[in-house]
Amino acid sequence: MTIIAAYQGIPGAHSNVAVTAYFAGTDEELEATGAPTYRQVATAVITGKADVGILPVDNAIAGTVRDGYDLLAQYDLQPLCEIQWRMDHRLLGIEGAELSGIREVLAHPLALAECGRFLGTLAGARIIPSVDTGVAAKEVAEAGEQSRAAIGPPEARKLYSLTELAANVADHPENYTRFILFCSKDARDEVRALGSRTPADKRKTSLTFTTKHEHGALSQCLAVLADENINLAKLESRPKLGKTWEHQFYVDLEGDCEEERVKNALEKMRQHTTSFQVIGSYDIGTSRDEGTEAPRKVIVSSAPKERPPLPTSAKNWPKAARKETTTRLSVGGVVLGGDEFVVIAGPCSVESQEQVMSTAKAVVERGARMLRGGAFKPRTNPYSFQGLGWEGLALLAEAGRATGVPIVSEVMSLDQVERMARETDVLQIGARNMQNYDLLKAVGRTDKPVLLKRGLSASLDELLAAAEYVLAEGNPHVALCERGIRTFETATRNTLDLSAVPVLRERTHLPIIVDPSHGVGVRRWIRPLCRAAKAVGAHGIMIEVHPNPEEAMSDKDQALTFDDFQEIMDDLDRIPYGP
Ligand code: PEP
Ligand code: MN
Repeated sequence: MTIIAAYQGIPGAHSNVAVTAYFAGTDEELEATGAPTYRQVATAVITGKADVGILPVDNAIAGTVRDGYDLLAQYDLQPLCEIQWRMDHRLLGIEGAELSGIREVLAHPLALAECGRFLGTLAGARIIPSVDTGVAAKEVAEAGEQSRAAIGPPEARKLYSLTELAANVADHPENYTRFILFCSKDARDEVRALGSRTPADKRKTSLTFTTKHEHGALSQCLAVLADENINLAKLESRPKLGKTWEHQFYVDLEGDCEEERVKNALEKMRQHTTSFQVIGSYDIGTSRDEGTEAPRKVIVSSAPKERPPLPTSAKNWPKAARKETTTRLSVGGVVLGGDEFVVIAGPCSVESQEQVMSTAKAVVERGARMLRGGAFKPRTNPYSFQGLGWEGLALLAEAGRATGVPIVSEVMSLDQVERMARETDVLQIGARNMQNYDLLKAVGRTDKPVLLKRGLSASLDELLAAAEYVLAEGNPHVALCERGIRTFETATRNTLDLSAVPVLRERTHLPIIVDPSHGVGVRRWIRPLCRAAKAVGAHGIMIEVHPNPEEAMSDKDQALTFDDFQEIMDDLDRIPYGP
């Protein structure tokens, strides 16, 4: 059967690519037809010019696409299924164009909303909304000017013979749009059958309503769902057009509106609302991005596919030696070596309540998942600030509790181990103590996670043997930290050995953290090394941040401001995290 599908835009638009990929996975033949606006997509279906239409309803970055929901509701259309599509945004220009020379960027307004951070880095470029992604790409190709670029998928690059200037330009690589494929209520049975492929528990129902302007109206609606054991998949409110401070709710729930429990719940909910419309039930989509090709300019870090033999020295560290998978080290709710690149941040030393609390709030607000801070400081000069000791640790713990993140602090001596293990979430072994075997054994007898920093002149073999000391005592919770080593180079404080990361990834199952702050020692060089650490395959970074670096009582040359930290977090968002 040939299905005529209406989408907004022209070939090369994301919805065109998404609908094409969807039908490629079915037995149906597709004839895709572009329409200039979302409304015209809906009317093409209502008037029978198309069998089905595709409209976006939600985007992971930009949120609800109100027009999508509203048109489905307004024209009483029948949703069939959801297509979750990864919006693979690339910056495309003509042959010879260069990123630094781009003065105008054309894109669909939704794409602009999804790529705000990247666009902000194109100093001085004019941002021009375009009817759709395909049109933007076509216009750039036809204008033939090297200063113009469009945001679009790789398919648009191919179709209009453009060159890719940057990949992964969305604010986050996990940028999915939910499209709804729909037909008219009186569509042919074969067309309607497209939307009934899955059982009811794999169906979703969308609705939109406004509540009475009275106390608890929304919670009454939600309580009805809870009573019937119905899961909410989405709840968003938008100001009601024309009635600015009244709110319209957009809700997706799991289940089919023909199911008894869903029917009952909807009927009860209706009583608490002033307007109520069930858009319909449809198959839940799984994310589909087979249509997209791998980005060309992005380095994807990954574990080595082949597993060459371990060096003979591996006999000294059998417990640290690699296993099938990386060990996931769980600290509070945070996992090192898991699915998330973990940023640990905080001051070099805890100096005062105000200093550590303000830093904790700033870094956690900006995405740090753990708080660091030294209470006992190993200083080269015995007359330098030595840390606030236990008082400092209490301040760090208070800041950790206030911001809801685990804390990391260095334990320097044997007699501190027991109390440190009670008062901190992660025991840091500093570089200078990497081969303090009694200390390693003592932390090995606790059950606290240990962050073991590489010694200033320790080989990777020695680092793994040091980890083995902790593991051998029965504590399996160890992460390694590359923090720079001593070399002949004097331009940087140390030499950050990023090659340690792939080597360790190959040789050990322990998670690997990189500390560019101590690695390079100079504020302005930390940012690029954070990017490099993620790209090369580390599981996280640890960096030093201070509210006023000039006044830091230790390591002031490498202390980052809150703004520096924000920039690093923005950068990291753009770099894929390897498996
Ligand atoms: C620290 O992280 O506070 C520190 C002292 O680092 P290192 O042991 O790597 O010098
Ligand atoms: Mn420091």
